[in-house]
Amino acid sequence: PSHLIAPAVHKTREQIAELLSKEVGEELPPDPDQLVRVARERLRQSFIDADVGISGANIAIADSGTLVIVTNEGNGRLVTTLPPVHIAVLGIEKIVPTMEDATAILQVLPRSGTGQKITSYVSFMTGPSRSADIELTLTIGVHGPKEQHIVLLDNGRWAAREDEELHEALHCIRCGACSNVCPPYQIVGGHVFGHIYTGPIGLIMTAMHHGLEHAAGPQSLCASCNACEMVCPAEIPIPRLILDVRARSVEAFGMPA
Ligand code: SF4
Repeated sequence: PSHLIAPAVHKTREQIAELLSKEVGEELPPDPDQLVRVARERLRQSFIDADVGISGANIAIADSGTLVIVTNEGNGRLVTTLPPVHIAVLGIEKIVPTMEDATAILQVLPRSGTGQKITSYVSFMTGPSRSADIELTLTIGVHGPKEQHIVLLDNGRWAAREDEELHEALHCIRCGACSNVCPPYQIVGGHVFGHIYTGPIGLIMTAMHHGLEHAAGPQSLCASCNACEMVCPAEIPIPRLILDVRARSVEAFGMPA
């Protein structure tokens, strides 16, 4: 992805039309209205036919077992409600203790990410769909999935939690604000600025999730201007952590050529 919260922002309408044309097997013009109409028509039936819907989640509330998904397009709704089984895959750092903690993130995330007071769509999901509307008889799966499963990913997070430097990066709420103010990122873009997770925090996440060997090259893009730390709502000392990753990669692989 080129940006944490806008992974396809670098694509032109012509590129999107070309991609969608290949998928649907007909030549589509680079007209946003038509492209959206075709996507709606084709994708809806796929969601209806699917046996399983797989999503991520922005927050998981331990108190109630509630998943929270925020989007500006509503594109998390069909996948979590139409198929009979919903599987949510999320990192363990997404878990917060209570609804109050989740509410604090819901206020900070859109403000830092897109300058909004609240994201356009905020979905709370607690277990499978249930209803007792008819004669107070509890029925599962009437308005949504009959089953909900949550897969918690470690992928280096637990080790980072024990790391005296990297544990601070686990506070990241993926708002992308650090990318927006990073001068080197603005020049080179997201495809080289980290491996999967991009931008300043991506340089740290890359080492955490994919190993130092993937972070060794991209980390050298950081100019240590400290702009990212100034805007980070989670107050993560990003430049210091990038320098730590840099020191570790130089120790492991030597100075970059
Ligand atoms: S490091 Fe901070 S600014 Fe960057 S995405 Fe995470 S929370 Fe947002």
